[in-house]
Amino acid sequence: MVTQNNIMMENYKGTITSKLPNVGTSVFAIMSGLATRHKALNLSQGFPDFPISEKLISLVHKYMTKGFNQYAPMPGVLALRQAIASKVKKQYGIEYDPETEITITAGATQAIYSIIAALIRPEDEAIVFEPAYDSYAPAVKLNGGLVKYAQLTAPNFSIDWKSFPALISSRTRLIIINSPHNPTGSVLKPKDIAELKRITQNRDIVILSDEVYEHLIFDNIPHESICRYPEIASKSFVVGSFGKTFHATGWKTGFVLAPSNLTAELRKTHQFVVFASNTPIQHGIAEFIDNEENYNYLSMFYQAKRDMFLELIAPSKFKPLKCSGTYFQVLDYSAISDEKEMDFAVRLTKEHKIASVPVSSFYHKNNDYKHLRFCFAKTEETLKKAAQILCKI
Ligand code: PMP
Ligand code: GLN
Repeated sequence: MVTQNNIMMENYKGTITSKLPNVGTSVFAIMSGLATRHKALNLSQGFPDFPISEKLISLVHKYMTKGFNQYAPMPGVLALRQAIASKVKKQYGIEYDPETEITITAGATQAIYSIIAALIRPEDEAIVFEPAYDSYAPAVKLNGGLVKYAQLTAPNFSIDWKSFPALISSRTRLIIINSPHNPTGSVLKPKDIAELKRITQNRDIVILSDEVYEHLIFDNIPHESICRYPEIASKSFVVGSFGKTFHATGWKTGFVLAPSNLTAELRKTHQFVVFASNTPIQHGIAEFIDNEENYNYLSMFYQAKRDMFLELIAPSKFKPLKCSGTYFQVLDYSAISDEKEMDFAVRLTKEHKIASVPVSSFYHKNNDYKHLRFCFAKTEETLKKAAQILCKI
């Protein structure tokens, strides 16, 4: 019988050859951790600080109480897949078959990993636009693939289609796009989709379109979902996240739209990565998205937050870059300091009690342009406090 409760764990004595030797902890975890330790206002990791819909909570509660607490079907609750199909049809005019073309995932991160795992073989190449969300490249590398980086250049962070074809080789398997774009807030335009269509024509390349911010797009700019373009949609995985759409990042519920042959491959990996995602949440969301009012307000809602944040920080020495979507605002601090982005972000957190994310963390070579990303998915009170701090720096 073991009675002692202070047994010391010994370290593993064998050898582990890291599969991701150059990868540390995600910058979002680091900056949020730092914010908590230093009691700083946390505008780093992207998450809202206001409550989610009570109606949605009561719907999920209803399904929990009714006993919907066991495994969901592997591809997702059918009612949710059907509700997504009709939402997508209303928004983008295209029909995805709930049975064979829509899969529910445990957030977009799991969707992205499962798609990449289904597609990328050793030596295959994936093209990623930088600055890039942090999960794309490691997922490619874990599956033996190589990442080729295309640079988006400030101030507009648009794609340089002239230099792009040089990145394509016979091994190119995947191009990952993200619009609205994290961290820059730039958005793809119809001419970008036309270029993508031209370049991938007659090539065996698949597109992963990360559209988690589809509803967070401003100034009446339409969201150029890949779904709107049947020729490209026929070779694309389109990824969405209810965490973003319903202010519930902790719920980790997302989805993938893709033609049936691509979906069949995705489901092969999805079933072993997670098998299925949270059952009552899927039922609750299915009922909730039936009503367009529950998401149609989002563009205006977040546009007002962006505008308020910009107005409040106008007297500061921080210079905002253009933000057309997402809930992130990039600020240029070159008029204040020439410290490296990470050093400056850490100092702001410790000394000024405001946390942000250095945009350099979104580059594999940590390019430093004196840019910090601030999340404005916050209450008016938080945004005012943040602006007060920033105006004093
Ligand atoms: N893609 C992008 C561009 C994101 O910003 C996020 C944010 N978390 C994700 C994917 C992952 O979404 P989820 O929280 O649903 O996994
Ligand atoms: N997408 C969020 C961001 O960009 C964070 C997600 C995460 O913490 N992995 O801040």
